[in-house]
Amino acid sequence: DFVEHMASIIAICLENVISNEMLKYIGLTDSLTGVYNRRYIDRRLVEEIGRARRQAYRVSCMYIDLDHFKQVNDTHGHQAGDEVLREVATRIKAEMRMSDALGRIGGEEFVVLLIDSDLESSIAVAQRIREGISATPFQLSSGATVPLSVSIGVATLDDFERDHAIEGVAHELVAHADSALYRAKAEGRNRVVSYD
Ligand code: GH3
Ligand code: MG
Ligand code: MG
Repeated sequence: DFVEHMASIIAICLENVISNEMLKYIGLTDSLTGVYNRRYIDRRLVEEIGRARRQAYRVSCMYIDLDHFKQVNDTHGHQAGDEVLREVATRIKAEMRMSDALGRIGGEEFVVLLIDSDLESSIAVAQRIREGISATPFQLSSGATVPLSVSIGVATLDDFERDHAIEGVAHELVAHADSALYRAKAEGRNRVVSYD
């Protein structure tokens, strides 16, 4: 009786752990693409900046926005647009390292956190991502073929920001990548621009 009683208590505990982990997973990922969501990226960035300060390595951030994506939806439909978003996430991941984190943080906007990566190597990764997307048109399940490009802004955390509060630094890093992205759009799209 005792063993049976213990077994059922342990079973309930395990059940709880599993459903908690499921909840965490659902709360931190984007259901359309399976990559992380904004909440996760915000949290992870703060953690990484703290670690980067202690262990003296660089953290970079990439802000990716699909070019003229509204046209894809308008021409091929929203379902097709969703298919393209999933494939974009797959192509971005193909160029990343295991330690980097990819999140979909807006409708057609992605952020990549690059851990222990300086500006130069982050730009190189961004160029590979950009090429990986523009070089091969997207093959949809409807049979349609959709050419697509992305614009990317890149920023790196500087040493001189060490004495500022981590949350502010995190926010600023993303804002810098976003403003570089804005320039990439203004300069004609399908390009990588770094913040300086
Ligand atoms: P730009 O090159 O300036 O970025 O042009 P754009 O058309 O990509 O930008 P705009 O912000 O005008 O349009 C973004 C489009 O993204 C509009 C919206 O329909 C589409 N979009 C946002 N979220 C989703 C989504 O979850 N699924 C699909 N299919 N489309 C989405
Ligand atoms: Mg956008
Ligand atoms: Mg766009």
